[in-house]
Amino acid sequence: MSAAKFEEIGRVIRQHQRFAVLSHVRPDGDALGSQLALALSLNRLGKEVRVWNEDGMLEKYSFLPRAELMSKPPSAAEDVDVAIALDTAIQNRLGTALEAIRSAKIWINIDHHPSNPGYGDLVHIDPTAPATGQILFELIKNQKLPLDHDIAENLYVAICTDTGSFQYPNTTPRTFEIAAELVRVGVDVGRVSQQVYENYPRRRVELLRELLRTMRFEGNGRVASFSLSLKTAAELGVIPEDNEGLIDHLRAIRGVIVAVFFEELADDKVRVSMRSKNEQVDVCAICQKFGGGGHTLAAGARIRGTLAEVEERVLKAICDVVDCNS
Ligand code: 5GP
Ligand code: MN
Repeated sequence: MSAAKFEEIGRVIRQHQRFAVLSHVRPDGDALGSQLALALSLNRLGKEVRVWNEDGMLEKYSFLPRAELMSKPPSAAEDVDVAIALDTAIQNRLGTALEAIRSAKIWINIDHHPSNPGYGDLVHIDPTAPATGQILFELIKNQKLPLDHDIAENLYVAICTDTGSFQYPNTTPRTFEIAAELVRVGVDVGRVSQQVYENYPRRRVELLRELLRTMRFEGNGRVASFSLSLKTAAELGVIPEDNEGLIDHLRAIRGVIVAVFFEELADDKVRVSMRSKNEQVDVCAICQKFGGGGHTLAAGARIRGTLAEVEERVLKAICDVVDCNS
């Protein structure tokens, strides 16, 4: 894996004109905020920028400044000079955005997932950064790229959401320094927090109510899980973005080390989301056994099988690691 310096990335940015800024399917705040922030900075340099995500802009992040720049990738491929993948640990998680690029002279890969294999020509992966948005802030500062209010607010949301509001252990002194600078540039913390944390549709809380009915504990309360069937999802009219953050209700329970969310998918698979509260319990390693990946404390996988089968296999794999018998 080549470790591209900001200088090299800056040079490529200055030397080219047509960019595609991409991120993973089922995007989160870090993915969408990072995409918009970089796209806006490139725009201010006079570049031509496409901002594509397979899922388009999510309703819950539609408050992000200049959210209208985000679109679903076109069905006919387009030519760009440089494609930039953000926050995307494996290239095929770019989904249809990957197919929308006919030719790119250069691929840049900027990410903070330790499991990222380093695809692309210029690769900058910093697993110590709590958010891709934090890496982008450093790039922007280092290369003196434009940073205005709209860019700052997108970066702030990226960092704020991926650190769980500056709560997760990957939050560093630098993270607070960056947040301070972004607020100085004009981020309205109260407004952003309300948009992110106090603006849920009622449907999401009804979903939480149903999930809590399925809540179960293993291993003397060290492992907590709940699950969502296709039937319940259909009854409630759940959309994928409703799920983000619900697993935190399990993680918040005293004594729980690993929290798991099982979601039945339409294609005979189950999406598994996992969180750990203990660095010694690496949920990325557990998810990798099932073909998934992520970070030490937050990971996921898509596993073939029924909800019941996948629950049993995954909970057993967790119990093997967590030592559920003592
Ligand atoms: P979440 O549980 O929020 O969907 O994902 C947590 C972390 O696990 C994210 O950083 C994400 O990149 C990673 N992750 C989630 N699902 C998958 C998956 O199916 N495959 C891989 N490789 N990583 C995943
Ligand atoms: Mn991220």
